[in-house]
Amino acid sequence: MHQPLLGIHHVTALAGDAQRNIDFYVRVLGLRFVKRSINQDAPDVYHLYYGDEIGSPGTAMTFFPFGRASRGRKGNGEIGRVAFGVPTASMGFWAEHLAKHGVPFDGPSDRFGEPVISFPDPDGMLVELVFNDRQRMKHPWRSGPVPAEHAVRGFHGVTMYVAQLGPTADALTGHLGFTKEGESGSRHRFVIGAEADRAAVDVIADASLPPAGPSAGSVHHIAWRVADDAAHRAWLGHVHQSGFHSSDIVDRFYFRSIYFREPGGVLYEIATDVPGFTVDEPLESLGSTLVLPPWYEPHRARIERALPPLTVPV
Ligand code: ZN
Repeated sequence: MHQPLLGIHHVTALAGDAQRNIDFYVRVLGLRFVKRSINQDAPDVYHLYYGDEIGSPGTAMTFFPFGRASRGRKGNGEIGRVAFGVPTASMGFWAEHLAKHGVPFDGPSDRFGEPVISFPDPDGMLVELVFNDRQRMKHPWRSGPVPAEHAVRGFHGVTMYVAQLGPTADALTGHLGFTKEGESGSRHRFVIGAEADRAAVDVIADASLPPAGPSAGSVHHIAWRVADDAAHRAWLGHVHQSGFHSSDIVDRFYFRSIYFREPGGVLYEIATDVPGFTVDEPLESLGSTLVLPPWYEPHRARIERALPPLTVPV
């Protein structure tokens, strides 16, 4: 029997310039840069990881920065918005902080009773801040540019765009354990996870939108959490029984992964909480050097030459 999914593990997106990406996610969103690694399927591209102090599951936003990539086209079959939770008392702080960094935002507008503001990241990916007091900070990054009392608590959820609601909703509620929580206009909300870790997946179905053209500023996939390898193996069986074509279990070194596409075209992953980002670096120096999975170590010199230099803002 499979355990319920625990919420969001991480969200991975495509970006353009690596330095611009790190400047935005550290200085503006106030996330800690927790891992400087490589795209395991394209080792001449970085894999940059951001999160709370330890990159806890549920806080990990990651990017493949492709350098001079063109911008993606928004449309169906993708996650079009990534929402982070922040405390309700922090609205004044964020308005001032975003203005200070020259980031204009839309809102606040009300969504299912919570105020939301939205703004694009440097590659046009739409980022949202959802003001709520349900989410808790597990491992605040105390030396970050955003004071811990105002800091991002983790993912609040994502908005998916698909041509048809039915098949995507059936996959969420019929096979993945999500509960439908409500709807508002064309937005249908599904939730997973216990109170503080609860994540919302909003589905907007609009058959008139073009298919998404993924490139810089596009979300590549979303990963759901399971605790450990035993739960992960049970999920592999469940995914197959549910009729999804999936990858086998892939070792991503910081977690294990299973990938499959939901019926609307969005790539899903199921990832383990273990072993986490401190498996190959001490907590204090996370992100400070390029770390490679052991099977890439013999190629380190060649890999390093192909990657642009990167300065971590402090
Ligand atoms: Zn992933």
